[in-house]
Amino acid sequence: MLHIRYELTQNPKKKPEKDDPLTFGTIFTDHMFVMDYEEGKGWHDARVIPYQPLSLMPSAMVFHYGQEMFEGLKAYKGENGNVLLFRPDKNIERANNTNRRLCIPEINEEDFLDALKAIVKVDKDWIPEKEGTSLYIRPFIIATDPFLGVRPSHTYKFIIILSPVGAYYKEGLNPVKIWIEDEYVRAVKGGIGEAKTGGNYVASLKAQVKAHEEGYSQVLWLDGIQRKYIEEVGAMNIFFKINGVVVTPMLTGSILPGVTRASVIELCKEWGYPVEERKISVDEIYEAAKTGALEECFGTGTAAVISPVGELRFEQEKLQVGGGKIGQLSQRLYDTVTGIQVGKIQGPNGWCVIVE
Ligand SMILES: *Cc1c(COP(=O)(O)O)cnc(C)c1O
Repeated sequence: MLHIRYELTQNPKKKPEKDDPLTFGTIFTDHMFVMDYEEGKGWHDARVIPYQPLSLMPSAMVFHYGQEMFEGLKAYKGENGNVLLFRPDKNIERANNTNRRLCIPEINEEDFLDALKAIVKVDKDWIPEKEGTSLYIRPFIIATDPFLGVRPSHTYKFIIILSPVGAYYKEGLNPVKIWIEDEYVRAVKGGIGEAKTGGNYVASLKAQVKAHEEGYSQVLWLDGIQRKYIEEVGAMNIFFKINGVVVTPMLTGSILPGVTRASVIELCKEWGYPVEERKISVDEIYEAAKTGALEECFGTGTAAVISPVGELRFEQEKLQVGGGKIGQLSQRLYDTVTGIQVGKIQGPNGWCVIVE
């Protein structure tokens, strides 16, 4: 059991009203979890303290060489009032995979879960209850050595902050328009594409700005070497339904292994769909769209859960998918995953973890 010190706020903030519209990641709860790392001492001084600014040296390594990692998951208020997490073990496992790749010290899995439960419990009254809303949990680690040399830091901070978030879509599940990027790339095999870290996001901004200017909401990345095979979308993994078969890019080392992705694959298999994790060329999707074999396309990720895609833009060509409407499988997946998350639907063993 992780020993946690509590220093609770004397000035709780005003929580959003039940009917206030919630956006993504703009307001934060009353508290945060913090734990420090020092070489020789390990992770120590776990504490829940009021949400507040950090004090760091301008020379802190994270500012210069980007040694940092993050995770993202959500807490939900269940039907009978209990507080639920969706597959937190998957996020914890991935966090330590990221840590190993970035030379950040690992965190004991039970301690990580204790920390998640502790902070969510303290701020549980911040979990919004309207359908489609949840409390977004953002754990992250930063390198804090005050040093300008290049090497792994000897000191770190592990922090968890919380943000009440609304339904990702205001008017139900509206299909989004996706820009297939053929100039910039996000990651290559052997790089850090499969780690959840800020570096991948700063690499993506230029293409995202370009896509936005053209009226597209997200970028679909191709592989960094041949610019031929489909990888993933912004902060989501991508799925296609082609002639009744569910297809998603295999994890090659440059793709982020999403928890939602893994869950969707499991559910589709359980429902009897043939599921293929393999290389998918942009030409194949182009052909499938032209011949009508491309039945559905959707992104998967914690923020939006399932995000139907209505248009793919490749070079000068606009490919329409599903007649601008959400597909049957996309809708079923959305309903099932969100149902499991709030405990309305019984999911596979261990998917729903009760905080209290
Ligand atoms: C977090 C993330 C995803 C989605 O992962 P989930 O665990 O399903 O939320 C996909 N791609 C990238 C680049 C990500 O950072």
